[in-house]
Amino acid sequence: MIYHTVLEAVGHTPMIRLQRLTNEEDAQVLVKFEGVNIGGSIKTRTALTMIEQAEKQGKIHKDTIIVEPTSGNQGVGLALVAAVKGYKTIIIMPDSVSEERRKLVKQYGAEVILMHDAGNIGDCIQACVTKANTMAKEDPRVFVPQQFENENNILAHKTYTAQEILEQVDGPIDGFCSGIGTGGTITGVGEVLKAKNPNIEIWVVEPEKAAILSGKPVGTHLQMGIGDGLIPPILDQDIYSHICIISDEEAIQTAKQLACKEGLLCGISSGTNVAAALKLAKKLGKGKTVVTILLDTAERYYSTALFDQE
Ligand code: PMP
Repeated sequence: MIYHTVLEAVGHTPMIRLQRLTNEEDAQVLVKFEGVNIGGSIKTRTALTMIEQAEKQGKIHKDTIIVEPTSGNQGVGLALVAAVKGYKTIIIMPDSVSEERRKLVKQYGAEVILMHDAGNIGDCIQACVTKANTMAKEDPRVFVPQQFENENNILAHKTYTAQEILEQVDGPIDGFCSGIGTGGTITGVGEVLKAKNPNIEIWVVEPEKAAILSGKPVGTHLQMGIGDGLIPPILDQDIYSHICIISDEEAIQTAKQLACKEGLLCGISSGTNVAAALKLAKKLGKGKTVVTILLDTAERYYSTALFDQE
């Protein structure tokens, strides 16, 4: 089978049962590995759906400039989709995100504007959003997908991520957990899984140093892509029943273990998700099934603590 463009190959990622990180007495943990998605992360899905829906609604034309504030992967996804479709793209991101992300965005031909993160990721993301909105006011060609508010972000997960999960998993899914950046993944996947099994236990996961849903102060942390220091407007706050807090150390340790015990080379927030999934698996016990997502590949974290080696 030949794809007409790389965009047709987005998604269809594998679901893998963890073997060595789990305990016999606990629920099985299944991970959907988005690190092998086109573009290296789950965010190619949302980029594609947001752009294609905007095209359908006549919001973008061939001279449109796509401008997006993002802490990283969404920028890579948008730059990739825009490269194929021929749109000029400008990505506005905090200077605290990994250098690899910046380089990837540029490699796909997009421009990068860096905003200084002075120690509060929430303030910095807000500054990125303000900058994008100002650019849109000043230039009518600018279209801002605004992933934090865009319902098509959720639509991508309902239509593709969640449907793939249902097709891949035999039997009931008893638990699901996910960190939140925009909240698109937990809302979209969560709503579909809950409609299928109303008894599913859904946990939201927060970095210890940016546990905003738990009312804690927001600082800078290492779990890039989640804990952006704001409660995203598209997050369905009724979808989860428990907030699980994970430290940077536990997230990184778990991501390292995923590589050296399971052969799954994934990013730090994937470690966050699996650390929480293992706790949920313990709570639910043998015979049950927990699903979580590995959001991206570790190859965009060479310059971070994930690759601190002895
Ligand atoms: N992890 C990583 C690495 C991400 O890039 C993102 C997206 N910002 C997330 C987790 C969170 O996903 P969502 O935006 O759907 O909440």
